[in-house]
Amino acid sequence: MTSLPLVFDAPTRGLPPRHLADLDVAGRREAVVALGEKAFRAEQLSRHYFAGHLPEQMTDLTGAVREKLAGDLLPPLLTVVREVQTDAGDTVKTLWRGHDGTLVESVLMRYPERTTVCISSQAGCGMACPFCATGQAGLTRNLSTGEIVEQVVAAQRTEAARGGRVSNVVFMGMGEPLANYNRVIGAVRRIVDPAPHGVGIGQRSVVVSTVGLVPAMRRLTQEGLQVTLALSLHAPDDELRDTLVPVNTRWPVREVLGAALDYTASTGRRLSIEYALIRDVNDQPWRADLLARLLKHKLVHVNLIPLNPTPGSEWDASPKKAEREFVRRLRVAGVNATVRETRGREIAGACGQLSAAEA
Ligand code: SAH
Repeated sequence: MTSLPLVFDAPTRGLPPRHLADLDVAGRREAVVALGEKAFRAEQLSRHYFAGHLPEQMTDLTGAVREKLAGDLLPPLLTVVREVQTDAGDTVKTLWRGHDGTLVESVLMRYPERTTVCISSQAGCGMACPFCATGQAGLTRNLSTGEIVEQVVAAQRTEAARGGRVSNVVFMGMGEPLANYNRVIGAVRRIVDPAPHGVGIGQRSVVVSTVGLVPAMRRLTQEGLQVTLALSLHAPDDELRDTLVPVNTRWPVREVLGAALDYTASTGRRLSIEYALIRDVNDQPWRADLLARLLKHKLVHVNLIPLNPTPGSEWDASPKKAEREFVRRLRVAGVNATVRETRGREIAGACGQLSAAEA
């Protein structure tokens, strides 16, 4: 495997102290043994952590052992700064502060048949897509595996307290997951591994979304995971995509779609295409037809996202009429397409609106 260009290894300074969730099964056992405890304690501690239990609930560990293991392996990673709700409490955005003051956001969305948590993989984002609020502020730093997993564990704790559980995880919060590759893959494994080694969420219920970092997509294909890949396409032609998703100048539409479809071919998982509909920018009937031509006869689903407003942007969502026509053209060509139900606009928690502003 050729080494990945710099873009995949954003600043690591500022990462928090090592946490149980940063380690794989063998690493956790070693850490516990190094602390003078039997290896099986790693499983006990993991089972509690991934279920969302707090140290005082870990009653099968004596006080002293608990203090030692939790003190070393469960350092506090994220603390809640603020929680805001909408949809009668069914959409909850949480602003978190890391050990170094870094701010990130996650969004919990309860639906009748599932509960999804949308998590961040980086503080900020370096991909600079002009229609996305996260992209405007640039990248602060990568999140650690533990910090990524902690967002899921916290959501799981909240849901368990009301008799529910998190069923789906989407890497669609702040950051470009594939630009923080190793930590994100570590997090995916902790999220999908069954208890006691992980949270136990089904692989098929996890979505990793990317702007299209081709070498990392190819690497993901080799991981043997069954997670769903989402590609933020937003335009079917390079001329426009170069401006909407700047990394397109490096890996153009043809290449990025090729890599995404190779992932689909090797996993059998349907590819999600994300396409934010922007009035008079990418919503023309001819672009719908061009998109349909690219995707025809492929195992894909197009998620059209009505553009969410972001501060300082001069762009608007497409009018409903243009949106309906766009969907119609895709469907006529036999391409699956739906308009994504927008959640959390009122609390700046919808797609592209996460900026982790404290005020
Ligand atoms: N960096 C990854 C993960 C973020 S997912 C990626 O881009 O795929 C967030 C999704 O919301 C992406 O598809 C992104 O393009 C989209 N998005 C960003 N800004 C948006 C906005 N203002 N309105 C609607 N969707 C937006």
